[in-house]
Amino acid sequence: MLVGIDLGTTNSAVALWQDGAPQLVPNALGKMLTPSAVSLAKGGQTWVGEAALDRMATHPADTVTSFKRMIGTASTVTLAGTTLTPEDLSAMVLRSLADDVEAATGERPTEAVITVPAYFNERQRRATRRAGEIAGLEVRRLINEPTAAALAFGLADKGDREPFLVFDLGGGTFDVSIVEMFEGIVEVRASAGDNRLGGDDFDAALVKLVEPMLPAEALDRLPADRRRALLTLAAERTRRALSTAEEAEFSVVVAGEPLTARVTTEGFEEAAAGLVKRLRDPVIRALRDCHIDVKSLSDIVLVGGATRMPVVRKALTRMFGRFPNATVHPDHAVALGAAIQAGLLSGGEGLEEIRITDVAPFTLGVDTATRDVHGRFHEGIFAPIIERNSPVPISRMERFSTLADNQRQVTFAIYQGEAREVKKNVKLGELTVPVPPKPAGEVAIDVRFTYDTSGLLDIDVTVPATGTTRNLAIVDEDDRRTQKDIAESRKRLEKLKVHPRDEAENVALIARAERAYEGFTGAAREVIGQALTDFTGALEKQDPRIIAAAREGLTRLLDEIDAHSPL
Ligand code: ADP
Ligand code: MG
Repeated sequence: MLVGIDLGTTNSAVALWQDGAPQLVPNALGKMLTPSAVSLAKGGQTWVGEAALDRMATHPADTVTSFKRMIGTASTVTLAGTTLTPEDLSAMVLRSLADDVEAATGERPTEAVITVPAYFNERQRRATRRAGEIAGLEVRRLINEPTAAALAFGLADKGDREPFLVFDLGGGTFDVSIVEMFEGIVEVRASAGDNRLGGDDFDAALVKLVEPMLPAEALDRLPADRRRALLTLAAERTRRALSTAEEAEFSVVVAGEPLTARVTTEGFEEAAAGLVKRLRDPVIRALRDCHIDVKSLSDIVLVGGATRMPVVRKALTRMFGRFPNATVHPDHAVALGAAIQAGLLSGGEGLEEIRITDVAPFTLGVDTATRDVHGRFHEGIFAPIIERNSPVPISRMERFSTLADNQRQVTFAIYQGEAREVKKNVKLGELTVPVPPKPAGEVAIDVRFTYDTSGLLDIDVTVPATGTTRNLAIVDEDDRRTQKDIAESRKRLEKLKVHPRDEAENVALIARAERAYEGFTGAAREVIGQALTDFTGALEKQDPRIIAAAREGLTRLLDEIDAHSPL
Protein backbone atom coordinates (compact mmCIF):
# COMPACT_ATOMS: atom_id res chain seq x y z
CA MET A 1 0.00 0.00 0.00
CA LEU A 2 1.15 3.51 -0.88
CA VAL A 3 0.52 6.33 1.61
CA GLY A 4 1.15 10.07 1.63
CA ILE A 5 3.07 11.47 4.59
CA ASP A 6 3.66 14.99 5.81
CA LEU A 7 6.79 14.52 7.92
CA GLY A 8 6.71 17.88 9.66
CA THR A 9 9.12 19.59 12.03
CA THR A 10 6.44 19.87 14.64
CA ASN A 11 3.61 17.64 13.50
CA SER A 12 3.33 14.77 11.08
CA ALA A 13 0.29 13.31 9.36
CA VAL A 14 -0.52 10.41 7.08
CA ALA A 15 -3.22 10.16 4.42
CA LEU A 16 -4.44 7.68 1.85
CA TRP A 17 -6.04 7.95 -1.54
CA GLN A 18 -9.32 6.19 -1.01
CA ASP A 19 -12.61 6.13 -2.90
CA GLY A 20 -11.51 8.91 -5.18
CA ALA A 21 -10.40 11.31 -2.46
CA PRO A 22 -7.48 11.88 -0.10
CA GLN A 23 -8.24 10.86 3.47
CA LEU A 24 -6.31 11.44 6.67
CA VAL A 25 -5.71 8.56 9.03
CA PRO A 26 -6.12 9.24 12.76
CA ASN A 27 -3.53 8.10 15.31
CA ALA A 28 -4.18 6.01 18.43
CA LEU A 29 -5.55 9.09 20.19
CA GLY A 30 -7.97 9.79 17.36
CA LYS A 31 -5.98 12.84 16.24
CA MET A 32 -4.94 13.60 12.68
CA LEU A 33 -1.67 15.22 13.77
CA THR A 34 1.09 13.29 15.49
CA PRO A 35 3.72 15.49 17.13
CA SER A 36 7.17 14.80 15.67
CA ALA A 37 8.56 14.04 19.11
CA VAL A 38 10.49 11.09 20.51
CA SER A 39 11.28 10.24 24.11
CA LEU A 40 13.32 7.40 25.53
CA ALA A 41 13.86 5.94 28.99
CA LYS A 42 16.69 3.79 30.29
CA GLY A 43 16.24 0.23 29.09
CA GLY A 44 15.06 1.40 25.68
CA GLN A 45 11.43 2.26 26.45
CA THR A 46 10.30 4.55 23.65
CA TRP A 47 7.49 7.04 23.19
CA VAL A 48 6.56 8.73 19.94
CA GLY A 49 4.09 11.58 19.30
CA GLU A 50 1.80 13.08 21.91
CA ALA A 51 3.09 10.77 24.66
CA ALA A 52 6.67 11.83 23.91
CA LEU A 53 5.70 15.50 23.91
CA ASP A 54 4.06 15.03 27.28
CA ARG A 55 7.38 13.82 28.67
CA MET A 56 9.09 17.00 27.47
CA ALA A 57 8.25 18.93 30.65
CA THR A 58 9.36 16.16 33.00
CA HIS A 59 12.22 14.54 31.03
CA PRO A 60 13.60 17.24 28.72
CA ALA A 61 17.00 15.58 28.45
CA ASP A 62 15.48 12.32 27.20
CA THR A 63 13.01 13.92 24.81
CA VAL A 64 13.58 15.52 21.44
CA THR A 65 11.45 17.61 19.09
CA SER A 66 12.20 19.64 15.95
CA PHE A 67 14.80 17.08 14.87
CA LYS A 68 13.84 17.71 11.27
CA ARG A 69 15.99 20.80 11.63
CA MET A 70 19.02 18.50 12.02
CA ILE A 71 18.24 16.14 9.20
CA GLY A 72 20.96 15.92 6.58
CA THR A 73 23.66 16.82 9.10
CA ALA A 74 25.98 14.55 11.04
CA SER A 75 24.47 15.61 14.38
CA THR A 76 23.10 12.96 16.68
CA VAL A 77 21.15 13.09 19.91
CA THR A 78 21.58 10.87 22.92
CA LEU A 79 18.40 10.11 24.82
CA ALA A 80 18.65 8.05 28.00
CA GLY A 81 21.97 6.65 26.85
CA THR A 82 20.90 5.72 23.31
CA THR A 83 22.45 7.68 20.44
CA LEU A 84 20.15 8.34 17.51
CA THR A 85 20.59 10.11 14.19
CA PRO A 86 17.97 12.52 12.86
CA GLU A 87 17.08 9.80 10.33
CA ASP A 88 16.49 7.30 13.14
CA LEU A 89 14.21 9.74 14.91
CA SER A 90 12.29 10.52 11.73
CA ALA A 91 12.02 6.80 11.05
CA MET A 92 10.42 6.32 14.46
CA VAL A 93 7.75 8.87 13.61
CA LEU A 94 7.21 7.29 10.20
CA ARG A 95 6.87 3.88 11.76
CA SER A 96 4.29 5.15 14.20
CA LEU A 97 2.29 6.62 11.29
CA ALA A 98 2.54 3.30 9.46
CA ASP A 99 1.21 1.59 12.61
CA ASP A 100 -1.78 3.93 12.54
CA VAL A 101 -2.51 3.09 8.92
CA GLU A 102 -2.23 -0.58 9.69
CA ALA A 103 -4.60 -0.21 12.63
CA ALA A 104 -7.11 1.68 10.47
CA THR A 105 -7.02 -0.47 7.35
CA GLY A 106 -5.60 -3.80 8.46
CA GLU A 107 -2.84 -3.41 5.91
CA ARG A 108 0.75 -2.38 6.56
CA PRO A 109 1.89 0.37 4.18
CA THR A 110 5.03 -0.55 2.25
CA GLU A 111 5.52 2.55 0.13
CA ALA A 112 5.21 6.25 0.74
CA VAL A 113 5.22 9.68 -0.81
CA ILE A 114 6.93 11.92 1.73
CA THR A 115 6.83 15.68 1.66
CA VAL A 116 9.85 17.90 2.29
CA PRO A 117 10.19 21.69 2.42
CA ALA A 118 10.83 23.02 -1.07
CA TYR A 119 13.88 24.63 0.38
CA PHE A 120 15.39 21.34 1.56
CA ASN A 121 18.80 20.73 0.07
CA GLU A 122 20.17 17.61 -1.48
CA ARG A 123 21.53 16.18 1.76
CA GLN A 124 18.32 16.79 3.61
CA ARG A 125 16.33 15.08 0.86
CA ARG A 126 18.57 12.05 0.84
CA ALA A 127 18.41 11.78 4.60
CA THR A 128 14.62 11.93 4.48
CA ARG A 129 14.58 9.14 1.95
CA ARG A 130 16.86 7.08 4.21
CA ALA A 131 14.51 7.68 7.15
CA GLY A 132 11.70 6.16 5.09
CA GLU A 133 13.80 3.15 4.30
CA ILE A 134 14.80 2.67 7.93
CA ALA A 135 11.08 2.68 8.76
CA GLY A 136 10.52 -0.04 6.17
CA LEU A 137 8.87 2.25 3.62
CA GLU A 138 10.01 2.45 0.04
CA VAL A 139 9.96 6.15 -0.73
CA ARG A 140 8.34 6.36 -4.14
CA ARG A 141 8.67 10.09 -4.31
CA LEU A 142 9.62 13.13 -2.28
CA ILE A 143 7.42 16.09 -3.06
CA ASN A 144 7.75 19.64 -1.92
CA GLU A 145 5.37 20.61 0.85
CA PRO A 146 3.93 23.68 -0.89
CA THR A 147 3.42 21.61 -4.02
CA ALA A 148 1.44 19.14 -1.97
CA ALA A 149 -0.56 21.96 -0.42
CA ALA A 150 -1.18 23.39 -3.89
CA LEU A 151 -2.48 20.01 -5.02
CA ALA A 152 -4.89 19.92 -2.10
CA PHE A 153 -5.95 23.50 -2.80
CA GLY A 154 -6.18 23.06 -6.55
CA LEU A 155 -8.16 19.90 -6.30
CA ALA A 156 -10.63 21.42 -3.91
CA ASP A 157 -11.28 24.10 -6.47
CA LYS A 158 -10.73 22.49 -9.85
CA GLY A 159 -10.32 24.51 -12.97
CA ASP A 160 -7.75 26.89 -14.34
CA ARG A 161 -6.63 29.78 -12.31
CA GLU A 162 -4.18 32.54 -12.16
CA PRO A 163 -0.93 31.91 -10.33
CA PHE A 164 -1.38 31.72 -6.58
CA LEU A 165 1.05 31.87 -3.71
CA VAL A 166 1.31 29.15 -1.08
CA PHE A 167 2.52 30.58 2.21
CA ASP A 168 3.54 27.79 4.58
CA LEU A 169 4.71 28.72 8.06
CA GLY A 170 5.12 25.66 10.25
CA GLY A 171 6.88 25.06 13.53
CA GLY A 172 10.40 25.27 12.17
CA THR A 173 10.37 26.11 8.50
CA PHE A 174 8.94 28.73 6.22
CA ASP A 175 8.20 28.07 2.57
CA VAL A 176 6.80 30.21 -0.20
CA SER A 177 5.80 28.85 -3.56
CA ILE A 178 4.15 30.36 -6.57
CA VAL A 179 1.96 27.85 -8.31
CA GLU A 180 -0.12 27.79 -11.43
CA MET A 181 -2.68 25.27 -12.58
CA PHE A 182 -3.45 25.01 -16.23
CA GLU A 183 -5.33 22.29 -18.05
CA GLY A 184 -4.62 19.74 -15.36
CA ILE A 185 -0.99 20.65 -14.95
CA VAL A 186 0.12 21.92 -11.58
CA GLU A 187 3.18 23.98 -12.15
CA VAL A 188 5.35 25.34 -9.39
CA ARG A 189 6.82 28.47 -10.88
CA ALA A 190 9.15 29.37 -8.02
CA SER A 191 9.95 28.41 -4.46
CA ALA A 192 11.83 30.24 -1.75
CA GLY A 193 11.98 30.04 1.99
CA ASP A 194 13.81 30.12 5.23
CA ASN A 195 14.38 26.77 6.86
CA ARG A 196 15.22 28.41 10.16
CA LEU A 197 11.97 30.26 10.72
CA GLY A 198 8.72 29.02 12.25
CA GLY A 199 6.44 28.90 15.26
CA ASP A 200 9.37 27.74 17.44
CA ASP A 201 11.03 31.10 16.90
CA PHE A 202 7.87 32.93 17.95
CA ASP A 203 7.88 30.78 21.11
CA ALA A 204 11.45 31.84 21.78
CA ALA A 205 10.52 35.51 21.26
CA LEU A 206 7.66 35.14 23.70
CA VAL A 207 9.90 33.49 26.29
CA LYS A 208 12.29 36.40 25.94
CA LEU A 209 9.41 38.78 26.52
CA VAL A 210 7.98 37.13 29.64
CA GLU A 211 11.10 35.79 31.35
CA PRO A 212 11.96 39.17 32.94
CA MET A 213 8.35 39.43 34.23
CA LEU A 214 8.65 36.20 36.25
CA PRO A 215 10.33 35.92 39.66
CA ALA A 216 13.92 34.97 38.93
CA GLU A 217 14.49 33.12 42.24
CA ALA A 218 11.82 30.56 41.42
CA LEU A 219 13.05 30.00 37.87
CA ASP A 220 16.67 29.77 38.97
CA ARG A 221 15.78 26.72 41.02
CA LEU A 222 15.23 24.76 37.83
CA PRO A 223 18.01 23.02 35.91
CA ALA A 224 18.64 24.88 32.64
CA ASP A 225 17.08 22.30 30.32
CA ARG A 226 13.91 21.91 32.39
CA ARG A 227 13.60 25.64 32.63
CA ARG A 228 13.80 26.05 28.88
CA ALA A 229 11.37 23.17 28.24
CA LEU A 230 8.79 24.50 30.72
CA LEU A 231 9.01 28.05 29.43
CA THR A 232 8.82 26.97 25.77
CA LEU A 233 5.80 24.73 26.34
CA ALA A 234 4.06 27.50 28.24
CA ALA A 235 4.94 30.02 25.53
CA GLU A 236 3.36 27.82 22.89
CA ARG A 237 0.14 27.56 24.90
CA THR A 238 0.06 31.33 25.38
CA ARG A 239 0.75 31.93 21.72
CA ARG A 240 -2.16 29.70 20.72
CA ALA A 241 -4.41 31.50 23.18
CA LEU A 242 -3.38 34.81 21.59
CA SER A 243 -4.68 33.52 18.25
CA THR A 244 -8.23 33.89 19.53
CA ALA A 245 -7.95 36.48 22.31
CA GLU A 246 -6.50 39.94 22.77
CA GLU A 247 -4.73 38.94 25.96
CA ALA A 248 -3.52 35.70 27.45
CA GLU A 249 -1.90 34.45 30.59
CA PHE A 250 1.53 32.90 30.47
CA SER A 251 1.83 30.41 33.29
CA VAL A 252 4.28 27.81 34.52
CA VAL A 253 4.27 25.83 37.73
CA VAL A 254 7.62 25.60 39.47
CA ALA A 255 7.78 23.38 42.56
CA GLY A 256 4.04 23.70 43.05
CA GLU A 257 4.17 27.47 42.78
CA PRO A 258 2.36 29.01 39.81
CA LEU A 259 4.26 31.82 38.09
CA THR A 260 2.21 33.94 35.73
CA ALA A 261 2.49 36.93 33.44
CA ARG A 262 -0.07 38.65 31.24
CA VAL A 263 0.74 39.00 27.58
CA THR A 264 -1.14 41.34 25.30
CA THR A 265 -1.43 41.06 21.54
CA GLU A 266 0.45 44.34 21.32
CA GLY A 267 3.32 43.12 23.47
CA PHE A 268 3.59 39.92 21.50
CA GLU A 269 3.50 41.74 18.15
CA GLU A 270 6.32 43.94 19.29
CA ALA A 271 8.36 40.96 20.47
CA ALA A 272 7.75 39.19 17.15
CA ALA A 273 8.38 42.18 14.87
CA GLY A 274 11.84 40.99 13.86
CA LEU A 275 10.51 37.57 12.87
CA VAL A 276 7.58 39.02 10.96
CA LYS A 277 10.00 41.14 8.97
CA ARG A 278 11.83 38.00 7.87
CA LEU A 279 8.68 36.74 6.16
CA ARG A 280 9.10 39.30 3.39
CA ASP A 281 12.35 38.26 1.79
CA PRO A 282 11.39 34.79 0.52
CA VAL A 283 8.15 36.22 -0.90
CA ILE A 284 10.05 38.83 -2.84
CA ARG A 285 12.63 36.29 -4.06
CA ALA A 286 9.96 33.89 -5.31
CA LEU A 287 8.06 36.61 -7.14
CA ARG A 288 11.23 37.92 -8.70
CA ASP A 289 12.44 34.50 -9.82
CA CYS A 290 9.33 33.79 -11.85
CA HIS A 291 8.76 37.39 -12.97
CA ILE A 292 5.26 37.47 -11.59
CA ASP A 293 3.75 40.66 -10.37
CA VAL A 294 2.18 40.54 -6.94
CA LYS A 295 -1.03 42.00 -8.41
CA SER A 296 -1.51 39.05 -10.73
CA LEU A 297 -1.60 36.54 -7.86
CA SER A 298 -5.13 35.27 -7.52
CA ASP A 299 -4.79 33.95 -3.98
CA ILE A 300 -2.50 33.82 -0.99
CA VAL A 301 -3.07 30.31 0.36
CA LEU A 302 -2.24 29.80 4.03
CA VAL A 303 -0.66 26.54 5.13
CA GLY A 304 1.03 25.52 8.39
CA GLY A 305 -0.18 25.91 11.95
CA ALA A 306 1.73 29.12 12.57
CA THR A 307 -0.30 30.99 9.91
CA ARG A 308 -3.11 30.94 12.49
CA MET A 309 -1.32 33.71 14.35
CA PRO A 310 -3.14 37.02 13.82
CA VAL A 311 0.22 38.82 13.78
CA VAL A 312 1.20 36.79 10.71
CA ARG A 313 -2.15 37.26 8.97
CA LYS A 314 -2.02 40.98 9.62
CA ALA A 315 1.46 41.19 8.15
CA LEU A 316 0.32 39.28 5.07
CA THR A 317 -2.69 41.47 4.57
CA ARG A 318 -0.38 44.45 4.65
CA MET A 319 2.19 42.81 2.39
CA PHE A 320 -0.29 41.79 -0.31
CA GLY A 321 -2.93 44.46 0.16
CA ARG A 322 -5.67 41.85 0.57
CA PHE A 323 -6.84 39.10 2.87
CA PRO A 324 -5.16 35.72 2.55
CA ASN A 325 -7.19 32.68 1.60
CA ALA A 326 -7.78 30.29 4.48
CA THR A 327 -9.96 27.74 2.70
CA VAL A 328 -7.57 24.78 2.89
CA HIS A 329 -7.05 23.27 6.32
CA PRO A 330 -3.64 24.63 7.33
CA ASP A 331 -2.68 21.48 9.25
CA HIS A 332 -3.99 18.91 6.80
CA ALA A 333 -3.30 20.31 3.32
CA VAL A 334 0.23 18.93 2.96
CA ALA A 335 -0.63 15.35 3.95
CA LEU A 336 -3.74 15.46 1.76
CA GLY A 337 -1.63 16.63 -1.16
CA ALA A 338 0.85 13.82 -0.53
CA ALA A 339 -2.06 11.38 -0.69
CA ILE A 340 -3.17 12.93 -3.98
CA GLN A 341 0.34 12.37 -5.30
CA ALA A 342 0.16 8.80 -4.00
CA GLY A 343 -3.13 8.41 -5.84
CA LEU A 344 -1.52 9.75 -9.01
CA LEU A 345 1.35 7.26 -8.74
CA SER A 346 -0.94 4.33 -8.21
CA GLY A 347 -3.32 5.34 -10.98
CA GLY A 348 -6.14 6.35 -8.64
CA GLU A 349 -9.50 6.93 -10.31
CA GLY A 350 -10.47 10.47 -11.20
CA LEU A 351 -6.89 11.65 -11.18
CA GLU A 352 -5.62 10.86 -14.64
CA GLU A 353 -5.70 14.46 -15.76
CA ILE A 354 -3.37 15.97 -13.18
CA ARG A 355 0.34 16.38 -13.69
CA ILE A 356 2.83 18.22 -11.56
CA THR A 357 5.88 20.12 -12.56
CA ASP A 358 8.21 21.35 -9.90
CA VAL A 359 11.32 23.49 -9.72
CA ALA A 360 14.84 23.02 -8.40
CA PRO A 361 15.02 24.93 -5.12
CA PHE A 362 18.75 25.74 -5.34
CA THR A 363 21.30 26.56 -7.96
CA LEU A 364 23.62 23.61 -8.54
CA GLY A 365 27.05 23.88 -10.05
CA VAL A 366 30.76 23.25 -9.77
CA ASP A 367 33.86 24.91 -8.45
CA THR A 368 35.96 26.56 -11.17
CA ALA A 369 38.73 29.03 -11.66
CA THR A 370 38.33 32.04 -13.93
CA ARG A 371 40.84 34.37 -15.48
CA ASP A 372 40.30 38.11 -15.09
CA VAL A 373 41.03 40.71 -17.78
CA HIS A 374 44.57 41.06 -16.46
CA GLY A 375 45.23 37.35 -16.95
CA ARG A 376 45.19 36.46 -13.28
CA PHE A 377 43.43 33.32 -12.02
CA HIS A 378 40.69 33.47 -9.44
CA GLU A 379 39.95 30.18 -7.74
CA GLY A 380 36.87 28.95 -5.96
CA ILE A 381 34.36 30.61 -8.23
CA PHE A 382 30.95 28.98 -8.53
CA ALA A 383 29.88 27.97 -12.04
CA PRO A 384 26.10 27.33 -12.00
CA ILE A 385 24.86 24.47 -14.16
CA ILE A 386 21.23 24.20 -13.09
CA GLU A 387 19.86 27.50 -11.89
CA ARG A 388 17.40 27.73 -9.04
CA ASN A 389 13.75 27.56 -9.96
CA SER A 390 14.44 25.69 -13.20
CA PRO A 391 11.58 23.25 -13.86
CA VAL A 392 12.43 19.64 -12.94
CA PRO A 393 13.08 17.02 -14.16
CA ILE A 394 15.94 18.75 -15.93
CA SER A 395 19.25 17.78 -17.48
CA ARG A 396 21.88 20.40 -18.34
CA MET A 397 25.42 20.13 -19.67
CA GLU A 398 28.32 22.56 -19.47
CA ARG A 399 31.72 22.19 -21.09
CA PHE A 400 34.88 22.98 -19.11
CA SER A 401 38.55 22.74 -20.06
CA THR A 402 41.88 22.04 -18.36
CA LEU A 403 43.68 24.82 -16.53
CA ALA A 404 47.30 23.67 -16.48
CA ASP A 405 49.70 22.19 -19.02
CA ASN A 406 49.96 18.39 -18.90
CA GLN A 407 47.25 18.16 -16.29
CA ARG A 408 46.56 14.45 -15.54
CA GLN A 409 43.17 14.70 -13.91
CA VAL A 410 40.38 17.14 -13.26
CA THR A 411 38.40 17.27 -10.03
CA PHE A 412 34.97 18.80 -9.93
CA ALA A 413 33.68 19.84 -6.56
CA ILE A 414 29.90 20.03 -6.65
CA TYR A 415 28.09 22.78 -4.80
CA GLN A 416 24.60 24.10 -4.24
CA GLY A 417 23.76 27.63 -3.29
CA GLU A 418 23.56 31.12 -4.67
CA ALA A 419 26.88 32.69 -3.64
CA ARG A 420 29.57 33.50 -6.19
CA GLU A 421 32.31 32.11 -4.01
CA VAL A 422 31.93 28.37 -3.56
CA LYS A 423 33.07 28.49 0.03
CA LYS A 424 29.81 30.21 0.91
CA ASN A 425 27.75 27.44 -0.69
CA VAL A 426 27.10 23.87 0.44
CA LYS A 427 29.50 21.26 -0.89
CA LEU A 428 27.73 18.13 -2.04
CA GLY A 429 30.62 15.97 -3.19
CA GLU A 430 33.49 15.59 -5.59
CA LEU A 431 34.19 13.78 -8.82
CA THR A 432 37.58 13.18 -10.41
CA VAL A 433 38.19 12.18 -14.01
CA PRO A 434 41.56 11.37 -15.69
CA VAL A 435 42.50 13.47 -18.75
CA PRO A 436 45.22 13.03 -21.38
CA PRO A 437 48.27 15.32 -20.80
CA LYS A 438 47.96 18.28 -23.20
CA PRO A 439 48.59 22.02 -23.12
CA ALA A 440 46.26 23.96 -20.83
CA GLY A 441 42.79 24.52 -22.19
CA GLU A 442 43.07 21.86 -24.86
CA VAL A 443 41.16 19.10 -23.13
CA ALA A 444 37.41 19.55 -22.92
CA ILE A 445 35.37 17.98 -20.13
CA ASP A 446 31.58 17.82 -20.25
CA VAL A 447 29.69 17.96 -17.01
CA ARG A 448 26.04 16.95 -17.06
CA PHE A 449 23.71 17.54 -14.12
CA THR A 450 20.39 15.71 -14.07
CA TYR A 451 17.81 16.54 -11.47
CA ASP A 452 14.92 14.13 -11.04
CA THR A 453 11.37 14.76 -9.82
CA SER A 454 12.27 13.98 -6.21
CA GLY A 455 14.97 16.60 -6.29
CA LEU A 456 17.83 14.11 -6.34
CA LEU A 457 20.89 14.86 -8.37
CA ASP A 458 22.81 12.72 -10.82
CA ILE A 459 26.13 13.87 -12.29
CA ASP A 460 27.99 12.62 -15.36
CA VAL A 461 31.44 13.81 -16.32
CA THR A 462 32.76 12.89 -19.78
CA VAL A 463 36.06 13.57 -21.52
CA PRO A 464 35.03 13.53 -25.22
CA ALA A 465 38.65 13.05 -26.41
CA THR A 466 39.05 9.72 -24.59
CA GLY A 467 35.46 8.70 -23.98
CA THR A 468 36.21 8.34 -20.24
CA THR A 469 33.15 8.91 -18.07
CA ARG A 470 32.57 9.14 -14.38
CA ASN A 471 29.20 9.11 -12.71
CA LEU A 472 28.16 10.31 -9.32
CA ALA A 473 24.62 9.14 -8.77
CA ILE A 474 25.19 9.53 -5.08
CA VAL A 475 26.39 13.00 -4.33
CA ASP A 476 26.40 12.76 -0.61
CA GLU A 477 29.65 11.29 0.67
CA ASP A 478 27.74 9.77 3.56
CA ASP A 479 25.62 7.85 1.12
CA ARG A 480 28.40 5.43 0.24
CA ARG A 481 27.60 3.45 3.33
CA THR A 482 23.90 3.88 2.97
CA GLN A 483 22.65 0.34 2.56
CA LYS A 484 24.75 -0.98 5.41
CA ASP A 485 23.77 2.03 7.50
CA ILE A 486 20.10 1.53 6.89
CA ALA A 487 20.32 -2.10 7.94
CA GLU A 488 22.24 -1.13 11.05
CA SER A 489 19.83 1.65 11.97
CA ARG A 490 16.93 -0.68 11.55
CA LYS A 491 18.52 -3.17 13.90
CA ARG A 492 19.27 -0.47 16.43
CA LEU A 493 15.67 0.73 16.39
CA GLU A 494 14.34 -2.79 16.67
CA LYS A 495 16.05 -3.09 20.01
CA LEU A 496 13.99 -0.21 21.37
CA LYS A 497 10.75 -1.18 23.00
CA VAL A 498 8.09 0.93 21.41
CA HIS A 499 4.88 0.92 23.37
CA PRO A 500 2.10 -1.02 21.70
CA ARG A 501 -0.12 1.36 19.81
CA ASP A 502 -3.13 0.89 22.14
CA GLU A 503 -0.98 2.00 25.05
CA ALA A 504 -0.51 5.46 23.59
CA GLU A 505 -3.79 6.60 25.04
CA ASN A 506 -2.88 5.36 28.52
CA VAL A 507 0.55 6.92 28.43
CA ALA A 508 -0.90 10.26 27.33
CA LEU A 509 -3.50 10.08 30.08
CA ILE A 510 -0.87 9.39 32.75
CA ALA A 511 1.18 12.33 31.54
CA ARG A 512 -1.88 14.55 31.62
CA ALA A 513 -2.67 13.42 35.16
CA GLU A 514 0.93 14.02 36.23
CA ARG A 515 0.77 17.52 34.83
CA ALA A 516 -2.48 18.16 36.68
CA TYR A 517 -0.87 16.80 39.85
CA GLU A 518 2.02 19.22 39.51
CA GLY A 519 -0.40 22.10 38.93
CA PHE A 520 -2.21 21.71 42.26
CA THR A 521 -1.50 21.56 45.95
CA GLY A 522 -3.44 20.26 48.93
CA ALA A 523 -6.63 18.24 48.64
CA ALA A 524 -6.97 18.53 44.87
CA ARG A 525 -3.46 17.19 44.50
CA GLU A 526 -4.29 14.26 46.75
CA VAL A 527 -7.39 13.37 44.74
CA ILE A 528 -5.41 13.40 41.49
CA GLY A 529 -2.59 11.40 43.04
CA GLN A 530 -4.97 8.73 44.28
CA ALA A 531 -6.73 8.53 40.92
CA LEU A 532 -3.35 8.14 39.24
CA THR A 533 -2.37 5.32 41.58
CA ASP A 534 -5.68 3.58 40.92
CA PHE A 535 -5.19 3.93 37.18
CA THR A 536 -1.67 2.49 37.13
CA GLY A 537 -3.00 -0.31 39.34
CA ALA A 538 -5.68 -1.03 36.75
CA LEU A 539 -3.03 -1.15 34.03
CA GLU A 540 -1.13 -3.80 35.95
CA LYS A 541 -4.23 -6.02 35.95
CA GLN A 542 -3.79 -6.22 32.14
CA ASP A 543 -7.50 -6.74 31.65
CA PRO A 544 -8.72 -4.54 28.78
CA ARG A 545 -12.15 -4.07 30.34
CA ILE A 546 -10.80 -2.96 33.71
CA ILE A 547 -8.32 -0.66 31.95
CA ALA A 548 -11.02 0.91 29.77
CA ALA A 549 -13.24 1.59 32.80
CA ALA A 550 -10.34 3.09 34.78
CA ARG A 551 -9.35 5.22 31.78
CA GLU A 552 -12.85 6.58 31.52
CA GLY A 553 -12.92 7.39 35.24
CA LEU A 554 -9.61 9.22 35.23
CA THR A 555 -10.49 11.12 32.06
CA ARG A 556 -13.76 12.25 33.63
CA LEU A 557 -11.92 13.52 36.70
CA LEU A 558 -9.36 15.45 34.64
CA ASP A 559 -12.06 16.91 32.38
CA GLU A 560 -13.89 18.12 35.46
CA ILE A 561 -10.73 19.76 36.79
CA ASP A 562 -10.12 21.44 33.42
CA ALA A 563 -13.71 22.70 33.35
CA HIS A 564 -13.07 24.53 36.64
CA SER A 565 -9.80 26.03 35.50
CA PRO A 566 -9.62 29.77 36.21
CA LEU A 567 -8.61 30.45 32.60
P1 ADP B 1 5.36 21.73 10.83
O1 ADP B 1 4.99 21.83 9.41
O2 ADP B 1 6.62 22.42 11.18
O3 ADP B 1 5.27 20.37 11.41
P2 ADP B 1 2.76 22.76 11.61
O4 ADP B 1 2.25 23.22 10.31
O5 ADP B 1 2.08 21.60 12.25
O6 ADP B 1 4.30 22.59 11.65
O7 ADP B 1 2.69 24.01 12.59
C1 ADP B 1 3.15 23.93 13.87
C2 ADP B 1 3.21 25.31 14.44
O8 ADP B 1 1.93 25.91 14.36
C3 ADP B 1 3.63 25.32 15.88
O9 ADP B 1 4.62 26.30 16.08
C4 ADP B 1 2.35 25.69 16.60
O10 ADP B 1 2.59 26.42 17.77
C5 ADP B 1 1.66 26.53 15.57
N1 ADP B 1 0.21 26.60 15.79
C6 ADP B 1 -0.70 25.61 15.65
N2 ADP B 1 -1.92 26.04 15.97
C7 ADP B 1 -1.79 27.34 16.33
C8 ADP B 1 -2.69 28.36 16.76
N3 ADP B 1 -3.99 28.12 16.92
N4 ADP B 1 -2.18 29.58 17.04
C9 ADP B 1 -0.86 29.83 16.90
N5 ADP B 1 0.02 28.94 16.48
C10 ADP B 1 -0.43 27.70 16.20
MG1 MG C 1 4.38 21.53 7.63
